[in-house]
Amino acid sequence: MHELSLAREILDICHRETTGKKIKQLNLRIGELSSVSPESLLFYLDNISLKSCLEGAIINYKIIEASLLCHNCAVYFKTDDWICPYCGKTITEYGIGRELEIESIELIDETDNN
Ligand SMILES: [Zn+2]
Repeated sequence: MHELSLAREILDICHRETTGKKIKQLNLRIGELSSVSPESLLFYLDNISLKSCLEGAIINYKIIEASLLCHNCAVYFKTDDWICPYCGKTITEYGIGRELEIESIELIDETDNN
Protein backbone atom coordinates (compact mmCIF):
# COMPACT_ATOMS: atom_id res chain seq x y z
CA MET A 1 0.00 0.00 0.00
CA HIS A 2 1.09 3.47 -1.01
CA GLU A 3 -0.01 5.02 2.32
CA LEU A 4 1.91 2.45 4.36
CA SER A 5 5.23 3.42 2.79
CA LEU A 6 4.36 7.10 3.24
CA ALA A 7 3.53 6.44 6.88
CA ARG A 8 6.93 4.76 7.31
CA GLU A 9 8.68 7.73 5.73
CA ILE A 10 6.85 10.13 8.02
CA LEU A 11 7.79 8.04 11.04
CA ASP A 12 11.45 7.99 9.89
CA ILE A 13 11.47 11.77 9.62
CA CYS A 14 9.88 12.04 13.06
CA HIS A 15 12.61 9.80 14.53
CA ARG A 16 15.31 11.98 13.03
CA GLU A 17 13.70 15.23 14.12
CA THR A 18 12.85 14.26 17.67
CA THR A 19 16.04 12.42 18.70
CA GLY A 20 14.18 10.12 21.03
CA LYS A 21 11.70 12.60 22.47
CA LYS A 22 7.98 11.85 22.37
CA ILE A 23 5.68 13.70 20.01
CA LYS A 24 2.59 15.39 21.36
CA GLN A 25 1.17 16.58 18.08
CA LEU A 26 2.04 16.07 14.45
CA ASN A 27 0.63 18.41 11.81
CA LEU A 28 0.57 17.30 8.20
CA ARG A 29 -0.30 19.04 4.95
CA ILE A 30 -1.86 16.84 2.30
CA GLY A 31 -2.40 18.21 -1.20
CA GLU A 32 -5.75 17.39 -2.75
CA LEU A 33 -3.95 16.05 -5.85
CA SER A 34 -1.44 13.97 -3.90
CA SER A 35 -3.57 10.81 -4.22
CA VAL A 36 -3.03 10.18 -0.52
CA SER A 37 -6.04 9.04 1.44
CA PRO A 38 -5.79 10.83 4.81
CA GLU A 39 -7.89 8.19 6.57
CA SER A 40 -5.67 5.43 5.31
CA LEU A 41 -2.47 7.33 6.13
CA LEU A 42 -3.66 7.99 9.69
CA PHE A 43 -4.64 4.35 10.05
CA TYR A 44 -1.15 3.16 9.11
CA LEU A 45 0.57 5.82 11.21
CA ASP A 46 -1.45 4.65 14.18
CA ASN A 47 -0.49 1.05 13.39
CA ILE A 48 3.26 1.54 13.10
CA SER A 49 3.66 4.15 15.85
CA LEU A 50 3.50 1.65 18.72
CA LYS A 51 6.60 2.03 20.95
CA SER A 52 7.87 4.88 18.77
CA CYS A 53 8.19 8.61 19.27
CA LEU A 54 4.78 8.93 17.64
CA GLU A 55 2.90 6.64 19.99
CA GLY A 56 -0.14 8.40 21.45
CA ALA A 57 0.46 11.56 19.44
CA ILE A 58 -2.39 13.61 18.06
CA ILE A 59 -2.12 13.70 14.28
CA ASN A 60 -3.78 16.57 12.45
CA TYR A 61 -3.84 17.23 8.78
CA LYS A 62 -4.86 20.05 6.46
CA ILE A 63 -6.00 19.41 2.93
CA ILE A 64 -4.19 21.80 0.62
CA GLU A 65 -6.32 22.98 -2.28
CA ALA A 66 -4.69 22.70 -5.66
CA SER A 67 -3.68 26.07 -7.09
CA LEU A 68 -1.82 27.19 -10.14
CA LEU A 69 1.33 29.26 -9.88
CA CYS A 70 2.35 31.91 -12.36
CA HIS A 71 6.13 32.22 -12.30
CA ASN A 72 5.89 35.64 -13.94
CA CYS A 73 3.73 37.14 -11.24
CA ALA A 74 4.68 34.82 -8.35
CA VAL A 75 0.99 34.49 -7.49
CA TYR A 76 -1.06 31.39 -6.70
CA PHE A 77 -4.60 31.33 -8.08
CA LYS A 78 -7.38 29.04 -9.18
CA THR A 79 -8.83 29.12 -12.64
CA ASP A 80 -10.39 26.70 -15.09
CA ASP A 81 -8.76 28.03 -18.23
CA TRP A 82 -5.10 27.74 -17.08
CA ILE A 83 -4.39 31.35 -17.97
CA CYS A 84 -2.91 33.75 -15.44
CA PRO A 85 -5.55 36.41 -14.65
CA TYR A 86 -2.77 38.94 -13.99
CA CYS A 87 -0.48 38.68 -17.01
CA GLY A 88 -2.32 36.36 -19.42
CA LYS A 89 0.44 33.73 -19.51
CA THR A 90 -0.61 30.11 -20.03
CA ILE A 91 0.16 27.94 -17.01
CA THR A 92 1.24 24.35 -17.52
CA GLU A 93 1.36 22.88 -14.04
CA TYR A 94 -0.01 23.11 -10.55
CA GLY A 95 1.99 25.19 -8.09
CA ILE A 96 0.59 23.45 -5.02
CA GLY A 97 -1.73 20.57 -4.35
CA ARG A 98 0.46 17.50 -4.85
CA GLU A 99 2.45 17.69 -1.64
CA LEU A 100 2.54 15.56 1.44
CA GLU A 101 4.49 17.45 4.06
CA ILE A 102 5.09 17.62 7.76
CA GLU A 103 4.03 21.12 8.70
CA SER A 104 5.16 20.93 12.32
CA ILE A 105 6.04 18.55 15.11
CA GLU A 106 5.19 19.45 18.67
CA LEU A 107 7.10 17.57 21.34
CA ILE A 108 5.92 16.58 24.80
CA ASP A 109 7.57 18.86 27.29
CA GLU A 110 8.88 16.36 29.78
CA THR A 111 9.18 18.92 32.55
CA ASP A 112 5.34 19.13 32.41
CA ASN A 113 4.95 15.55 33.53
CA ASN A 114 6.60 15.74 36.86
ZN1 LIG B 1 1.06 35.94 -14.39
